[in-house]
Amino acid sequence: MACRKAGGHALRIGMKSTLYKKAWKYLENITPLEYDCGALCGSACCKGSDQDGMLLFPGEEIMYIEDRNGISIVDSHIGLSDGTRIKLLVCQGCCDRKKRPLSCRIFPIIPQIDEHGCLTFTPDLRAAALCPLLYRADLYTISPAFIDALYSAFETLAEDERVTEFIGILTRQNREIAADLKRFYR
Ligand code: SF4
Ligand code: SF4
Repeated sequence: MACRKAGGHALRIGMKSTLYKKAWKYLENITPLEYDCGALCGSACCKGSDQDGMLLFPGEEIMYIEDRNGISIVDSHIGLSDGTRIKLLVCQGCCDRKKRPLSCRIFPIIPQIDEHGCLTFTPDLRAAALCPLLYRADLYTISPAFIDALYSAFETLAEDERVTEFIGILTRQNREIAADLKRFYR
């Protein structure tokens, strides 16, 4: 696949909901395996405490303006250079699937920006001890159709430079975890 350069321009709020609707749609019905991987682990990724949450992508909170039933949205510790505060969605372990945030739709994979500035995808190492698709990666292969859907969704979102900056932060965090793991296991 040709390199898709990440980076674009800031978008007005109205356009943001259109972008997220489009990105969500690509990941509406597709899952990492061709069957329900929740059966492997009792849906471990939905079983956090009420202190845990899933990071929203920049501006994604607009998708919850009208309905925050069963969820709360709070500030995370991550801020972007224009002052945007990244939000955390805290749920109660069940949700309307159509309203799950992008972080849940893509789990356990995250977007990254490689050394050439290209969008790519990699296992989310924060999930390494939680998700059997990662700690038993020898047994499971992520569906190519899922990876294609990730590219479609994020090529849409990369029009917003705040999304690109946030992916850069995720990239640094994932590399730091990889370096820590390497030190620990060497
Ligand atoms: S923890 Fe991993 S295997 Fe389990 S439901 Fe979540 S994505 Fe699927
Ligand atoms: S929002 Fe839904 S999919 Fe995401 S962790 Fe909560 S229950 Fe699971």
